[in-house]
Amino acid sequence: MMPDREKVIAGLSALIGTSHVITDDVTMAPYLTDWRKRYTGRALCVVRPASTDDVIAVMRFAKEHHCAVVPQGGNTGLVGGSVPLGRGDEILLSFQRMNHIRSLDPDSDTVIVEAGATLAALQEKAEEVGRLFPLSLASEGTATVGGTIATNAGGTAALVYGTMRDLVLGLEIVLPDGTLLNTLTTLRKDNTGYHLASLFMGAEGTLGVITAASLKLFPLPRARSAAFCGLKSPSDAFKLFKHLKHRAGPSLTTFELMPRFAIDIALKHIPGLRDPLSEPHEWYVMPEFSSFVSDDAQEIAATLLGEALDADIVSDAVISESLAQRESFWAIRENIPEAQLREGPSIKHDISVPLADIPEFIDVVCAELLTALPGIRPCVFGHVGDGNLHFNLQAPVGMDEKTYTTHAERIHAIVYRHVGTMKGSVSAEHGIGQVKRSQLAATKDPQALDMMRKIKAVIDPDGRMNPGKVL
Ligand SMILES: Cc1cc2nc3c(=O)[nH]c(=O)nc-3n(C[C@H](O)[C@H](O)[C@H](O)COP(=O)(O)OP(=O)(O)OC[C@H]3O[C@@H](n4cnc5c(N)ncnc54)[C@H](O)[C@@H]3O)c2cc1C
Repeated sequence: MMPDREKVIAGLSALIGTSHVITDDVTMAPYLTDWRKRYTGRALCVVRPASTDDVIAVMRFAKEHHCAVVPQGGNTGLVGGSVPLGRGDEILLSFQRMNHIRSLDPDSDTVIVEAGATLAALQEKAEEVGRLFPLSLASEGTATVGGTIATNAGGTAALVYGTMRDLVLGLEIVLPDGTLLNTLTTLRKDNTGYHLASLFMGAEGTLGVITAASLKLFPLPRARSAAFCGLKSPSDAFKLFKHLKHRAGPSLTTFELMPRFAIDIALKHIPGLRDPLSEPHEWYVMPEFSSFVSDDAQEIAATLLGEALDADIVSDAVISESLAQRESFWAIRENIPEAQLREGPSIKHDISVPLADIPEFIDVVCAELLTALPGIRPCVFGHVGDGNLHFNLQAPVGMDEKTYTTHAERIHAIVYRHVGTMKGSVSAEHGIGQVKRSQLAATKDPQALDMMRKIKAVIDPDGRMNPGKVL
């Protein structure tokens, strides 16, 4: 049954205030299109609650009036999960106003924060008291705590600190019928049955609404030093990873892989970037080291990369000597997606395979793709220390988007076939959303998929939570 839009708007306005129920097309527009501009949906209205009580009221109202609900944080998701479908019967629930830190305890290294706080704001608050909130993504200025939990985001520090799931102690959740599920504990150990909060992490808003989270904090490093290394092949990158991981242990906090093509397009399209090395190399790795007891991060980098140079694993390397130089390295890595956008059409995959298989995966899949579509330009980069690659493929020079799209299915089939053979994942970071539903159905263990459907049916029997996403 299609909800009566006028009634819905009047009812929600009475509950949380007219100024927080957005109904005009122009103001609603940015909420209805995803970051990559691939999906635009329709909504009854955009609602901006200020508190958990507001969210409970909205969810009860939505149940009573048969409205579906799409939770939205920073809308930086890359799989079309945060925008409504085209049906027009959904309420878009934006967390922009629920962005407060409720409490921060440096003694127990915990923080309780509302879902709409951005990662950057949380990192800043933690740093003010000498603590680190380690989840770090290029989108951290906009991506929210709720969104990163709902997608179980990874990012550049997952190598040591894990993904968002590893950083959550408990959640405050509003269920589809408006019931409050409070697991907002700051306990580190609690073995009292099923860990219900885990169900909502990575669920992409299809089971309920996260309104707040208790999260772990960590010691702030005394020093950090990044390096830019040129090398010959992904196989050498893997050798380097093993060397650094086993010698540096948890001091190795980042390990990012990039091909020369990514450096070339970053230098071409993003003003102000500079090639850190004097000669070009086929591949690059950017490791970062953190030190906690003394300021020796740079020394650790110099010793370990010196060993790698001696062993001929690395062809050349430069180590950051200042914050500005470290930031200039990061600027190259973080601008690759933007450079790809400016370079022209690309087809993207966000996959993982077992670490030891990465070199073979890159070699074999790139070779097959080049045979299938001569001129295709692989831009394979990412958090290779986690086995996670952004396996992106730039169109051959001069090929327009429309023509390139006609090759998409064939390209996906090649990439995902090899992911399957190597027992990898079709979604290592970004989630399923609207983009990868068919890949999920095709690759997930049937028993696991069946259990996911049963859990969904119990928690959201009317199918009103973020419909058309994940399952
Ligand atoms: C430049 C760039 C770099 C990126 N780098 C990375 C990266 O390194 N690693 C990575 O993992 N991702 C990365 N992403 C993807 C994206 O930033 C993450 O998926 C992020 O977690 C999304 O957070 P958000 O607040 O923007 O969520 P949104 O995009 O608003 O929503 C994402 C999903 O979560 C759901 N959701 C949002 N808030 C809630 C809530 N309160 N309760 C329940 N469900 C909710 C939405 O319904 C949707 O399904 C990147 C994106 C960009 C644009």
